[in-house]
Amino acid sequence: MKDNVIFKVYKYFLPSAWKRYKGYFVIRLLRLIVNTITPFVPILMMPRIVDELLGNRDVNRLITYVLVIILSEYVLGILNGLFGNILERYSLKFENHYTSLMSARIMEVDFQLTEDKKALDQIELAKNGMSWYSGGLNGIVEPLFNMATALFTVAGVVVIIAGQAPLILLITLVLLVLSAALNKRMNEIEQKQYADLSKINRVFSYMGWELTDFRYGKDIRLYGAKEMMLNKWRNYSDMFVGMWGDLSHKLISLRLLLMIVDVIRDFGIYFYVGVLAIFGKITIGVTTQMFTAAGTFYNSMRNLVMGYQDLYKRANYANEYVKFMDYPAAIQKGTKPVGEGPHTFEFKNMSFSYPGSDVEVLKNINLTLTPGEHLSIVGLNGAGKTTLVKLLCRLYDPTEGAIYMDGVDIREYDYEQYMNVFAPVFQDFKLFAFSMKENVLIQDESTPEHEREVAEVLDKVGLTEKLATLSKGMDTYVFKHFEEDGIEPSGGEQQKIAIARALHKNAPVVILDEPTAALDPMAEYEIYRQFNDLVDERTAIYISHRLSSCQFCDRIAVFSDKEIKEYGTHAELVNKKNGIYAEMFAAQAQYYQV
Ligand code: ADP
Repeated sequence: MKDNVIFKVYKYFLPSAWKRYKGYFVIRLLRLIVNTITPFVPILMMPRIVDELLGNRDVNRLITYVLVIILSEYVLGILNGLFGNILERYSLKFENHYTSLMSARIMEVDFQLTEDKKALDQIELAKNGMSWYSGGLNGIVEPLFNMATALFTVAGVVVIIAGQAPLILLITLVLLVLSAALNKRMNEIEQKQYADLSKINRVFSYMGWELTDFRYGKDIRLYGAKEMMLNKWRNYSDMFVGMWGDLSHKLISLRLLLMIVDVIRDFGIYFYVGVLAIFGKITIGVTTQMFTAAGTFYNSMRNLVMGYQDLYKRANYANEYVKFMDYPAAIQKGTKPVGEGPHTFEFKNMSFSYPGSDVEVLKNINLTLTPGEHLSIVGLNGAGKTTLVKLLCRLYDPTEGAIYMDGVDIREYDYEQYMNVFAPVFQDFKLFAFSMKENVLIQDESTPEHEREVAEVLDKVGLTEKLATLSKGMDTYVFKHFEEDGIEPSGGEQQKIAIARALHKNAPVVILDEPTAALDPMAEYEIYRQFNDLVDERTAIYISHRLSSCQFCDRIAVFSDKEIKEYGTHAELVNKKNGIYAEMFAAQAQYYQV
């Protein structure tokens, strides 16, 4: 089981890392050689110096020995530092690389997962798991090389010790088993704590970063939310500090035991080697050699065991990243290519409940949308209008029944190609803190041709006058995150930019899901009417609870109580006796006439 995680993580990271960063592995190998040689310089030279001092006292020889020690330690030390620097730089590169891969994955996971608590927790675990908890790729590769270094060093010192004072090996091994067991326990405690901390970290990043975003500013001030925020922050902060406190409390007695084990080992070895020396079994030079070699043997064996434990721990953290990157898809994806439009859509006996909820939001929907048709969906808040559009765009899959495009279940189509069929503007659309042009194009490189296209759609939605007032025109940044002179567009202007983006996508089906809710009814009517002219031949779906915006549509579907209660043209529905539409229309007509 243990090896599985290490194996799995290595299998995931190493092949691509080797391809991309060969230099890193070469430097790791060179550092392995340097680190393996380093401890042997004093082990091999010290007994010669001591025996020379007690014997012939040849000054030239002594100077040579000392020079060998000093020079080789100096050179090896420099190389080690140099390699360490290079590896650190690689480590930063890895961090950027794997973070960007993860961001890309976050943006492409099934939309449904962005509302799924388990998936959100997994993202947090993955972020932390791949950064400081595991040390990233460098962090999971390093222990392997440390273990290899330790293994070679152990082999060397065993040869040196076995011939002179073999009991050292036994004493060291027995006490090493004890300290390894203590270490294992410490790692287990740390890891358990890590899982609990991830939730708190998520809360912290919400409070610390997102809430300081000035767009929350208005609500926080006007509702006096500061106290609530700070109190929540304090509570979580107390929990956080408490957890770290608990952790160090649990670890302290184990650390003490570890120190005792070390003392017993040192005592045993000094006693044994001392006895050998007193009885003349080994020379004084060899005695010093045995002390140094025993230390190296112990450290290397410890590095070997701890390297393994460290690797196991880091692999587990990094595995959280692997788990997220391989997170199971929430919806089924087909391979069928999407043909050229125009398309016909059909909802057949379709029902839907949101994942994790038993409440049916839509019930037995049957509806057909023919090519070029302009359909208006109306109904009270919460009637399921937006949900229907989300299902059509495949942000969710139906719970029962199905949706068909050109007679084929939409689940069978290639997902990305299918997504390209739609240009929706949702109620909660978001503009990016990039330039207006980039917001429309959704790409950061543009040609003069692109700029003409953008100018054209911005003109169509009525932003030309606004553009004329901006010194940087369409290159003006939306919001001030990146640029001091970014603009803070009004609600209506933001909607216009979002609509321009939808128009520019030039998709066969456009959807307006009440993006105009912030506007007054007349302005909304105007935008819908203009939009209707702009989308022209394309299929269009309009959602609004203001009926004035439906009149120019071919068909109207009235949603109420999870179902389509009425369906027909404006003329048919408006005169229907006791009809929902007729009643709503009459009620709204009191407030404004169009
Ligand atoms: P409408 O667009 O007609 O106002 P919606 O389609 O947004 O209605 O919502 C229909 C119902 O589904 C509402 O009761 C709403 O609370 C519920 N709902 C909407 N989104 C979710 C969600 N992500 N998870 C669970 N329930 C949801």
